[in-house]
Amino acid sequence: MRKRKFVSTMGAIALAASLATPVLAEGQPSPATPEQQVLSVEGFTNHAQLSKKLQQLVQNSQGKVAVEAAGYSNQGREIWKATVGSGEKVILINSEIHGNEPVGTESLLSLLQFLGGNSPEAEKIREEVTVVALPKMNPDASELSRRGNVMSWQEVVEDFPQLGNASAPWNYYTYKNSFFDYESQPGFDVNRDFNPDLNYVPKAEDFPGNSSTAGWYITPESQTVRDVYKSLVEEYGKVEVFVDLHHQAPYYEVDGTDDLVTFSISGQFVPNPTTEAGSKYAEYADNYNYDFSRQLNVAVFDALQTGNSPFKNITLYPQSLDLPGTALGTFALNGSGTVLFEVRGQTQSFGQKKKGQLVKAVERGLLGIVTGVTDGSVYEIDPEEYESIPLTKGRQ
Ligand SMILES: [Zn+2]
Repeated sequence: MRKRKFVSTMGAIALAASLATPVLAEGQPSPATPEQQVLSVEGFTNHAQLSKKLQQLVQNSQGKVAVEAAGYSNQGREIWKATVGSGEKVILINSEIHGNEPVGTESLLSLLQFLGGNSPEAEKIREEVTVVALPKMNPDASELSRRGNVMSWQEVVEDFPQLGNASAPWNYYTYKNSFFDYESQPGFDVNRDFNPDLNYVPKAEDFPGNSSTAGWYITPESQTVRDVYKSLVEEYGKVEVFVDLHHQAPYYEVDGTDDLVTFSISGQFVPNPTTEAGSKYAEYADNYNYDFSRQLNVAVFDALQTGNSPFKNITLYPQSLDLPGTALGTFALNGSGTVLFEVRGQTQSFGQKKKGQLVKAVERGLLGIVTGVTDGSVYEIDPEEYESIPLTKGRQ
């Protein structure tokens, strides 16, 4: 393996400053449509700030939150892993696999603070479950406020010489437009680099692939998440729940209403291996637990149905997906109950506007999962309730 380029903390701060997303000066006309703008994202936690905040969480919780570097990004930034609780059931939560989707990281920081606190609720949760968070797992992308990581195909071939004659994969970005410059800093959609075979080794004949074939673990970011997942399976027998925190387009509406969707959820990423459509995944049929994924999604939906109305506008993300290269598809096939969160608006649509409300909404949904597993109530939910979660208008 190629030697990783390690960046010291001070180096990381300097690098972060030099790579900061450009912010329009006040009064300067926007070159972009309202859907796609260069907006301030300084209100979101960057990697250097995350490193500090996590250390503070360790101190403030008197060690109840433990933090370590689970691995390093291609540019050498730490991929932090925060663990709280000592229960037998593991809930693994990932954020910012796409670097312009930062709300989940803020929600995780807030959740970790609560779980490391002294309330009786937090204490009870810590006894029953172990929550493992991978906040900002694609930090190089986050520093550039973009989807893809920072890694060239040439670097991949250095790591895997057997790919010398292979074509670069379909999820490799090299384009340039007014928002993203993948031409000078190419990268991969890390969320298509997972493979349900957790021991898969890249083979030239599996490239360039497509959205309904598995990924290859060619990026250090996906390798790190895979390694964390495998180590948890080894220690706990299985990863009970896997949650991935994303963003979607900003102006979807709840089907049958004019209400804007706060976030969409899903427990369906690959066709069910027990059905004909999913027969290519037959070897995973014994592990796959679609009903548990559906129960978890209902727990999220129910957790948002009290309080202010924006929080109630939760819909199902489009169903009938076949995306084995996503972290969710891969870990669903390996037996975890899975939940996708898709919060409205990337940083190019809202910047940090609406941050407070969205962070709170996601945190509330996550707590629905954590408390449902803690008190066992999620296992009592009728999975069919999933089918009555509203769809998104115009999407299936
Ligand atoms: Zn995403």
